[in-house]
Amino acid sequence: MQYRKFGSLDWQVSALGFGAMRLPTLDGDSGKINEPEATAMIHRAINGGVNYVDTAWGYHQEQSERFLSRALKDGYREKVYLATKMPSWLVKEEADFDRYLEAQLERLDVDHIDVYLLHSMNARHWKNYQALDVFTWAEKRMAEGLFHQLGFSFHDEYPVFEQIVTGYDNWAMAQIQYNYIDIEHQAGLKGLKLAADRGLAVVVMEPLRGGKIAKNPPPDPVAETWAKSERGWSPVAWALNWLWDQPEVATVLSGMSAMEHVEENLALAAESSIGKLTAADRALVNEARSAYASLEPIPCTQCEYCLPCPSDVAIPRIFGVYNEAASFDAWGHGRWAYNNIKVEERADNCTECGECEAVCPQNIQIIDWLATVHKTLAQAESEV
Ligand code: SF4
Ligand code: SF4
Repeated sequence: MQYRKFGSLDWQVSALGFGAMRLPTLDGDSGKINEPEATAMIHRAINGGVNYVDTAWGYHQEQSERFLSRALKDGYREKVYLATKMPSWLVKEEADFDRYLEAQLERLDVDHIDVYLLHSMNARHWKNYQALDVFTWAEKRMAEGLFHQLGFSFHDEYPVFEQIVTGYDNWAMAQIQYNYIDIEHQAGLKGLKLAADRGLAVVVMEPLRGGKIAKNPPPDPVAETWAKSERGWSPVAWALNWLWDQPEVATVLSGMSAMEHVEENLALAAESSIGKLTAADRALVNEARSAYASLEPIPCTQCEYCLPCPSDVAIPRIFGVYNEAASFDAWGHGRWAYNNIKVEERADNCTECGECEAVCPQNIQIIDWLATVHKTLAQAESEV
């Protein structure tokens, strides 16, 4: 295993972290963790050098922390930095901070947590935490030893990330969605650099974009790109080595759901290093990103010049969902994502006024495409 610096702390953290959010389950029920298999996996990972384990209040229908309390017995707890997260969306009043922390210490059956994160931070949660003065509370609990470091995980746009990172001086870490496709999405490359410059450890989640860029074989244009290299790496190896190549990345969390994932990731992490990629390798990764983009049927650049739509249609978001579904052949996920858009912002609210088409620099036939997207993705959940 290779170990890396954890921001400005003197911790040496394994290049590979164990994310306890996609554990093997029984009967297709995410609340029923297959404990013998999941325990064997986490023990194998720790015996292979993994020393960072990440969970959260809500993972596996609130069973992940309870599972870890059992899986980390017999000395395993002492071998890892344990991270869990406050469920931000459930925090209504100051008393909730203690309510969740105490419950989590009990669920995990530990006397302290190494890294406590404010989960899924966005503009709304950030405002709420500031109003409730989470930092005064957190500093008291850290002084009492109940958790040792404070961080946050993030899902919003870069300007919000910047506000959060610069809004408190003692963050130890930030957990961001980052992979070679998402360099301009959410915190992105800019967020990675900003956090690292300010001494935060950056923990990467979704390194394989929910498994989409791990597909082997990948779509033709991507396969043709990788074939230009003599590396012979798998799509997973390209994705992870690209991350580990970057000095700003502290550890990469992989949500492993089978022992073969653990073995593959351990082998890759053992060979990982900063600067492993050549300039030619990095250029090829850029090509793979473009190859995925070339599979997108709507040439929308997300510039947002078409907003606001007088009928509130979320045009770029809708096109983003459709493009992602098409390029990764992930239509089930696409229907789920489309149905997560507010009803009043979906494509069928378009009155065909034409204002957006008049300003779109890509000359997209927006009205026609909105009709296509709605027809394709607006299906009942039961059909998904
Ligand atoms: S054509 Fe439809 S999507 Fe475009 S601005 Fe008008 S209502 Fe909005
Ligand atoms: S103006 Fe065109 S390219 Fe820009 S976000 Fe709207 S649809 Fe996409």
